[in-house]
This record gives sequence, structure tokens and C-alpha cells, in this order.
Amino acid sequence: MDFAPKASVEEFRASIRRFIADHLTAEMVERAHRTGTFHDWEFHRALAATGIIAEGMAGAGRESGRDPLELYVLFDEMGLAGAPFYGLANAMLVAGVIEQIGSDFHMSEVLPRFHSGEAIAALGYSEPGSGSDVAAAATRAERIPGHPGDEQVWLVNGQKMFTTLVHEAGYVILLTRTDPDLPKHRGLTMFLLPMDLPGIDFQAVDTMGGDRTNITYFTDVRVPDRWRLGEVNGGWDVMKVALAYERGVFGNMNQGVTLLRRFAAWAGTAERSDGTRLIDDPGVRRRLARIAIDNEITALLAVRPALLASQGRLPTTEGSVAKLYASEAYNRAAEACQEMAGAVGLLSPLHGAGGGAADLPDADWGFVDLAARDAPVTTIYGGTSEIQRNNIAEHRLGLPRAR
Ligand SMILES: Cc1cc2nc3c(=O)[nH]c(=O)nc-3n(C[C@H](O)[C@H](O)[C@H](O)COP(=O)(O)OP(=O)(O)OC[C@H]3O[C@@H](n4cnc5c(N)ncnc54)[C@H](O)[C@@H]3O)c2cc1C
Repeated sequence: MDFAPKASVEEFRASIRRFIADHLTAEMVERAHRTGTFHDWEFHRALAATGIIAEGMAGAGRESGRDPLELYVLFDEMGLAGAPFYGLANAMLVAGVIEQIGSDFHMSEVLPRFHSGEAIAALGYSEPGSGSDVAAAATRAERIPGHPGDEQVWLVNGQKMFTTLVHEAGYVILLTRTDPDLPKHRGLTMFLLPMDLPGIDFQAVDTMGGDRTNITYFTDVRVPDRWRLGEVNGGWDVMKVALAYERGVFGNMNQGVTLLRRFAAWAGTAERSDGTRLIDDPGVRRRLARIAIDNEITALLAVRPALLASQGRLPTTEGSVAKLYASEAYNRAAEACQEMAGAVGLLSPLHGAGGGAADLPDADWGFVDLAARDAPVTTIYGGTSEIQRNNIAEHRLGLPRAR
């Protein structure tokens, strides 16, 4: 493997760093953490105005577009800067799906709204009874028989769990069951619903990691057929395209890098009762070195799917390997930092209600607590660690199917 970075990719990295320095403010980052909404319209629209969403990703039948390695760099830099980028990731993902599968209607009516930064989408896959086994979705879409007029209309009823950003979204991409008599993967149909259709409601769910997500309810929502994405009962084919984007390029953050940087900086100033600095303790240094090694491995694994896509190859289990390693390494790092920080590592600047770490001389505190709460959540969303292990076992190692 050639590890030398491409000059064009490094130039792109420099331009993203400049963009972040010019547009991302401390208030935006603070607001994202305070509200749990990792999307900021001002930042998002400024980024969309550079053309990055419209340019999209090259490959998968698309002749022009950004090198997948550049998109990897985009999200890598966003993650390192703590930028609120979830809306960007969802908009690019759904725009990519529309480009591959959408109708003329989607192309002309919806795609430009994603490209310009006017709208973002939420992902409506998981349900209370189907997360890992997402193909078991039960949200029902039924044709309304004898509907007057030219266009078929569907009646949608059901409930989606963890619809992150639905409270900001103009659209939700919705996995529905259209034929309960077919095998589960073959009875699904995907829709892209505008959020202003009557009968859609949602309520907030706050996670221990500080993210706000939602439960979304669909009650007798009348959906004209033009909002269908892909074939009737072909929803799983659409899902495969969507998951390829999510697992291939967008998903794998290296959160341990920021944690290590901040922890090492603090440990270099923190004095212990015997007057020595935390960073001078050989045990602390050894643990920090382990985190640094984990971060390096995470970075190499995370770039692999993008590198393969950049070479015109199709990433398969590489996304699972990277996601599994990145999230579990982040957990190891957060746990180690919390142990090394002692009681101070339990303080939170966000939930201290005036008595938290914001009162300490170093108001930077709270990042260890935040990481310790955030890290376990990263082993759940985008496919749990167990599911990634199953995927690797079955598709990389050729072991028998788990279920
Ligand atoms: C913060 C957050 C944001 C999210 N955002 C979105 C979103 O925007 N859109 C969306 O659709 N979903 C979203 N999700 C949902 C996420 O994809 C699911 O939580 C995840 O897929 C797990 O599904 P589940 O929660 O139903 O757990 P379950 O599938 O019920 O799993 C429970 C436990 O059983 C284990 N398990 C399940 N099946 C197997 C198996 N076959 N073998 C071994 N172990 C197994 C799991 O690993 C887990 O430990 C989000 C989740 C979180 C936490």
C-alpha cells in the first residue's frame, strides 16, 4: 500500500482547515454540545456555498465529483475541529442515494435543496423492534385503493426510533414494509418524505453521550407515489446504497486524537499532591503512548475504505473493521483518561448546574467526562460492535452465519 498522501488531497485538507478556521466559532461548538444538535445552519450553508455537497463523491457510476479520499478528509477535519457536521453527512448521503436511484422528480425538486444547503435529511431506518435487524422494519406503507386522480397514494403508519436531526430536517428517508407476505428483505420500500406532510410527529430523546435524537411517529400519512425512492418492494436495494455511503466514507471518526491532545496538555500542567506533574508519571506516559498507538491504527484503518473507493474498488468489510476498531479504541482511551484524571474526570461542564467543572480554574474540564459518556454510544450507532464482528466473521473470515 502506498502511504504517501496525494498532493490534491493534501491541498483539499488545507482548504478545509482554512474554511473551518474562517467559519467555525466557539459559540457554534458550545451550542451543539448544549443542545445535542450537531448541526448548525449558518456553518452548513456556508459550506454548501463552496459547492462541496453539489460536487458529491466520484465513483459508483458518477463521472465527476470529489475523490472519496477528499470526502474522508472533509469528515476527518470536521471531527478533529469538533464541528457540528451531522446534517452535512446526512445531506451528502441522501443526495448520493438520489443521484444513483432517484427519479426525475427527486433530481429536479429535492436534490437542489440538498446541494444548496437549504435542506437536510434524517435517516428513518431503526424502529423500537428493529435496529440491528433493520430489515425487520414494520412501519407500514399501504396503497390507498381506488384513489382518485392519476397518482397512486400510500398510507404510512408506524414509528421510527433514533431519527437523529429529524427536528431540523426537511426530509426523512423512510424504510417501510409494503408486503408483509414476502421474505423480510423483499417486502420493503423506501420513501423520501417531506417533513411537512400531515401526520408526522416527533419527540426528543437525549442520549448519555449528549446527542439529541428523536422518536418519530407516522399516523395516516398520505404519501403521493412521487416520493417513493426506488422500486416497490425494492427498498433493500436502496438501503444497500445508503449503507455503503455511511460505512464507506462518512462514518469513522478518530475521537481519541482530540482526547489525547487535550489530556496530554492538561497532564503537563496538573500538579499532584507531591508536587510532581501527572505527565511525569511513567504509568501515565505508558497509557498515553498506548492511546497514541491506537489512534494511529484507527487513522490507518479509517482511511482504507476511502482509499479503495478512490482506486475505483468497492469497499466491503473495511468499513466494519474501521468502525469497530475506532469506537472500541475510543472507549479504551476514554476509560484510561477517566482513571488517570481521578475525581476531576467525573465533572461535567454541561451538567454541573453551576457546581460543575466550569467553576474550576481550568474551565476546559469536562472533556474527559464527555468522552467517557460519548464513547460507549459510538459502539451502538452505525451498527453495533457485535454486528460489525458478525460482518467481519462472515464476510472476511468466511465463518458460518450468526443468524
Ligand atoms: C445516538 C444514536 C443515534 C442514532 N441515529 C440513528 C439515525 O439517525 N437513524 C436510524 O435509523 N438509526 C439511528 N440509530 C440507531 C442505531 O443504528 C441502532 O441503535 C443500532 O443499530 C442498534 O439497534 P438497537 O438499538 O435496536 O439494538 P438491538 O438491535 O436491539 O441490539 C441490542 C443488543 O443486541 C446485540 N445484537 C443484536 N443482534 C445481534 C446479533 N445478530 N448478534 C450478536 N449481537 C446482536 C446488539 O449488538 C446490542 O448489543 C442511532 C442510535 C444512537 C444510539
